Amino acid sequence: MAERKGNRNGHDLVPLAALISREMKSEKMEKPSVRYGCAAQSKKGEDYFLMKTACQRVPGNPSSTFSVFAIFDGHNGNAAAIYTRENLLSHVLSAVPRGLGRDEWLQALPRALVAGFVKTDKEFQSRGETSGTTATFVIVDGWTVTVASVGDSRCILDAQGGAVSTLTVDHRLEENVEERERVTASGGEVGRLSIVGGAEIGPLRCWPGGLCLSRSIGDMDVGEFIVPVPYVKQVKLSNAGGRLIIASDGIWDALSSENAAKSCRGLPAELAARQVVKEALRTRGLKDDTTCIVVDIIPPDDSSTPSPPPKKQSKLRALLFRKRSRDSATKLSKKLSAVSIVEELFEEGSAMLAERLGNESTSCLFVCAICQVDLAPSEGISVHAGSIFSMSSKPWQGPFLCADCRNKKDAMEGKRPSGVKVV
Ligand SMILES: [Zn+2]
Repeated sequence: MAERKGNRNGHDLVPLAALISREMKSEKMEKPSVRYGCAAQSKKGEDYFLMKTACQRVPGNPSSTFSVFAIFDGHNGNAAAIYTRENLLSHVLSAVPRGLGRDEWLQALPRALVAGFVKTDKEFQSRGETSGTTATFVIVDGWTVTVASVGDSRCILDAQGGAVSTLTVDHRLEENVEERERVTASGGEVGRLSIVGGAEIGPLRCWPGGLCLSRSIGDMDVGEFIVPVPYVKQVKLSNAGGRLIIASDGIWDALSSENAAKSCRGLPAELAARQVVKEALRTRGLKDDTTCIVVDIIPPDDSSTPSPPPKKQSKLRALLFRKRSRDSATKLSKKLSAVSIVEELFEEGSAMLAERLGNESTSCLFVCAICQVDLAPSEGISVHAGSIFSMSSKPWQGPFLCADCRNKKDAMEGKRPSGVKVV
């Protein structure tokens, strides 16, 4: 924000002023309304979802309301999906420092999401059950959408104006080269299933365990490099609003993001969710659990359903996201009237906890940054201890972890001598 104010009298005066006034307008505007719907077709009974609209940042204060929408696609049983649905939200919220204002709260979310995902994974594994789950977890607070995900349940954004973008990455070994490299570097093996005779079939999997995903919650019986550290993205919609489509792979194996968005434009959320599921089944049949949540973020003065299908705007797609730091305002200004701008506030997908939990001096000395247990004064181990990849890491600096969480961190990074847990 400071840099934009600083530029106000510079050469870029016109376009920047346009952006600023736009933003101030939206700041002053009331919160958008949120409408949502869900549809599902079950095959194995391992898809679970969560839709919660009356959460409050400040208990008892209705103006601090936010909403949570999530999909958990379980595998090898449904216990991890059920456990995650019941516990992930509270684990995330308990990792946000107390007493923050709205903006600080939103800024604290990405780290809290990482802590909450890891804590949920650790607690579920301690129960000794072997199932696992994807988790795509979406927090909508006003115009700001924060998405955290592990696995391949995707969340897409259909911004007003018809530009479709993905707010998650698929943690699938088959498609994600970066994750393949990480898993291999941590001691895992990536390969296909071999059948008798030596032929290889199916998608790339990670061994031991044979999972096609590189990140998940649960899965104690696969290699520990299958981590629960989520990819997190936070965006702020323009005051034109937009539509989120969150769905399990039953949808995405049948429909591209573009086609899913297109198939339901103009329909209210509830019908839209049903339409997306119907379209997926029409294309591919019921091969897998298929769940879809549609969330419409609607400007307060907009009385109707989302606008009808827009004209082709593929040329503008590249302009959809505007990074805070790199303001290409000059180019953007010409298109401002034509397409709604989505501001990218945060994006990080690293699997390394030291990078994700940061080294802010504000972190508490006496509480584990992941599981939030109290630490005795000499007990905490810095998340940066023994780390060599970052020049800025300081082993005496927080955040701090309890011994248990530190062990988990080492295991996830392939540093535990035993390497892989054998069950
Ligand atoms: Zn801990």
